[in-house]
Amino acid sequence: MATINSSYLKLKAGYLFPEIARRVNTFATNNPDAPIIRLGIGDVTEPLPLACRQAMIKAVEDMGSHESFKGYGPEQGYSWLREKIARHDFEARGCAIEADEIFVSDGSKCDTGNILDIFGNDNTIAVTDPVYPVYVDTNVMAGHTGETNDRGEYGGLVYLPITAENNFTAQIPFEKVDLIYLCFPNNPTGATATREHLAAWVDYARSHGSIIFFDAAYEAFITDPSLPHSIYEIEGARECALEFRSFSKNAGFTGTRCALTVVPKSLKGKAADGSEVSLHSLWNRRQSTKFNGVSYIVQRGAEAVYSEEGQAEVRELVEFYLENATIIRERLTAAGLAVYGGVNAPYVWVKTPHGLSSWDFFDKLLHTCNVVGTPGSGFGAAGEGYFRISAFNSRDNVNEAMRRITEKFKV
Ligand SMILES: *Cc1c(COP(=O)(O)O)cnc(C)c1O
Repeated sequence: MATINSSYLKLKAGYLFPEIARRVNTFATNNPDAPIIRLGIGDVTEPLPLACRQAMIKAVEDMGSHESFKGYGPEQGYSWLREKIARHDFEARGCAIEADEIFVSDGSKCDTGNILDIFGNDNTIAVTDPVYPVYVDTNVMAGHTGETNDRGEYGGLVYLPITAENNFTAQIPFEKVDLIYLCFPNNPTGATATREHLAAWVDYARSHGSIIFFDAAYEAFITDPSLPHSIYEIEGARECALEFRSFSKNAGFTGTRCALTVVPKSLKGKAADGSEVSLHSLWNRRQSTKFNGVSYIVQRGAEAVYSEEGQAEVRELVEFYLENATIIRERLTAAGLAVYGGVNAPYVWVKTPHGLSSWDFFDKLLHTCNVVGTPGSGFGAAGEGYFRISAFNSRDNVNEAMRRITEKFKV
């Protein structure tokens, strides 16, 4: 019989969202008339911008004639899209990123996992706690960890706690780690990073020869002009960081699929013989071999994000979700809860009242208010005692959920 990758057996069986679904389904079966509002999953709710839809409709038509038909495109993405990304997302913010350092993909989720292909198996890996579970699980699958302990932490990973006590910015480790995952604005806590905080990480990475994986999926939600959108706004980051970006959360592409990874040509890793190797050329090789590019139609849709109409529509979408976040923050604060995040970010991170566990608060909110959120402990041991509420929903649902919570849940 063929053997399997036994690292998969170390995974805690997709615990968080299935368990939420199980509890919600049980409740809904027993209370078929309960008007449940889901503020749990991190998916957008508003339709695609018109500019993107029109561009994709035109692209479909392009596929219908010999003159403009497209077969396989460049694995790295079409240059017209890469150029626009370089100009609007990087050059405009003073970041020296060239179009050919941008790799267009079908998602940041896959890229954050796939990137491990080009790194060795002997790196020390640091993640924040709580954390986007994909970073951890992909390292488990790649065989980079041991088993879990009773806190659910995998052996071999360095966990950097982020809590209210350290203002949700991890203490920079004293020991040397080789790979560090950072996500700002943060999922799940909604925390942001100042220029000084990122500069401290870049300093750390450069002095230890570490690589930072910077996940900027939520950069569009930054409205504070003092906050960096890209790690490349920090001097020296070209030598120590790669960056993941996505059209999912700004332009509502979660179901359309387009993202990008920036791998500067100045980024190097070490080979077994001690020589330095370009990570750009390895990633290019990896993508050209295992990936055949994002569909022409979708790339045209992503390109339209950078048109004048597209920019205006994306701004409106982001503002809409940020207003939801403000409503959530204000109403929960009025209900006497301690809330974090939700400014420059679409997630509000709530301290559970009366010392309730994350799951007890989940059950209480579900049963008394019929509102679903995400237990903080599902994102890591240090998330225990916290709860994530997402601003991705309709205004009516947000208002109604907050009305119920303030009415029935006065702390
Ligand atoms: C939503 C999200 C992404 C985007 O993933 P896609 O695969 O591009 O949809 C990336 N990182 C984090 C932390 C996210 O929450």
